[in-house]
Amino acid sequence: MSDDGAARGVVVPTYRGPVAAGDLGPTLTHEHLFVRDPQLDRDYPHPEWDEDAAVETAVAGLEDLFDQGVRTVVDLTVPGLGRDVGLVARVAARVRIHLIAATGWYTDTVLPNYFRTHGEGRLVGGPDPLPQMFLRDVTEGIGGSGVRAGMLKVVSDTPGLTPDVTRVMEAAAEVHVQTGVPITTHSNPSLRGGLGQLALLTGRGVDPQRVVVGHSGDSDDLDYLRQLMDTGAFAAFDRFGMAHVQDDETRIITLLRLLKDGYADRLLLSHDTAYFSRVTPPSWRRRVSPLWTHDHLSRRVLPQLLARGASHKDIDLMMIDNPRRLLAFAPRTP
Ligand SMILES: [Zn+2]
Repeated sequence: MSDDGAARGVVVPTYRGPVAAGDLGPTLTHEHLFVRDPQLDRDYPHPEWDEDAAVETAVAGLEDLFDQGVRTVVDLTVPGLGRDVGLVARVAARVRIHLIAATGWYTDTVLPNYFRTHGEGRLVGGPDPLPQMFLRDVTEGIGGSGVRAGMLKVVSDTPGLTPDVTRVMEAAAEVHVQTGVPITTHSNPSLRGGLGQLALLTGRGVDPQRVVVGHSGDSDDLDYLRQLMDTGAFAAFDRFGMAHVQDDETRIITLLRLLKDGYADRLLLSHDTAYFSRVTPPSWRRRVSPLWTHDHLSRRVLPQLLARGASHKDIDLMMIDNPRRLLAFAPRTP
């Protein structure tokens, strides 16, 4: 039996409690339910936001997704993107799909001012709050919810590894080493950003096999993608349907080529979409990227991949075995 936890009774934290790794089933590893902004939402509510309606939309969408065969969805909405575990828990209580929460901080430039004054050698001092926050989310639960995070999310983009971006990644590496929780990144593949992320994380003791370089599928640079996966890391084709960044045809051609080269055990598939996002609200999505929905892989992309040369084994690896191997971790006592 491979070392994926399925045989050892390893459990994965979800909104409804621990689930055996072997029971995760087909999994979307990079999605969102609600991307919001607490300050804007409080003082300048978005005209398309209606909380009860948003919950109903998510429940109906996830129930349909279950009927399409998906069994687990990782919600990578972390602080900085308006994470609200109480709201997601309302959805989780009504759907058959397992939902997994995440921690981390979403910024590609600077952290909020609070972090500038808190931490060793800073104005207010004390220990750096970031690793403490991440650790508590992973081991005890987020806020008072008891929902434990099953994934760490870090970000770098055009500005590169700024001091605050580096600080978040170092905190994530620290908590990963303490707990074993997997890490996923937001990367800019046009700048080959995954390589710098991997160098930083592995330099801090992170096993590349526990890292997903997110948004890799935005690129068709095969040399770069092979280089990422040759480290042992996962490359995620996690934005199917996001037509304003890359067309699906390019994503599919690139993916099929990598499958042919034997990389099926290093690839993950998802959409990075949301039932509501303040950044790209529903009316805009309907107009610009109408296929950018949580069911796009199930309804259109997976059948296309099979028709164009991917094997059922390839699909099972990308949708079931790789997510299970990634998400299963035996929590170590820090
Ligand atoms: Zn995302």
